[in-house]
Amino acid sequence: MPRIRCLQTSDVHLRADRPERRRALELVFDAVTAHSADVLLIAGDLFDRSCDAVVERAFVREITDPNGYDLCPRCALVLKSGQLTAHLSACSGVT
Ligand SMILES: [Zn+2]
Repeated sequence: MPRIRCLQTSDVHLRADRPERRRALELVFDAVTAHSADVLLIAGDLFDRSCDAVVERAFVREITDPNGYDLCPRCALVLKSGQLTAHLSACSGVT
């Protein structure tokens, strides 16, 4: 049976005027890559407010894409590249 490595974080509350929160997510993502995790589950409040999501989602992509991971646009998962297409067919869009 294949093993899936999953890490979890929550309550990052990204917003443009709190750069230390971006740094915290970068440290989480360092752990994701160090452990070659298959999935990072962000179990709530990645963004502080809905108005922060547009800008901060671009920041999340800046740290995930170069490392071979994709952020699901519908839910709270970061997956290894190549897994997103299969995931999207099953993703219910829970936010
Ligand atoms: Zn999803």
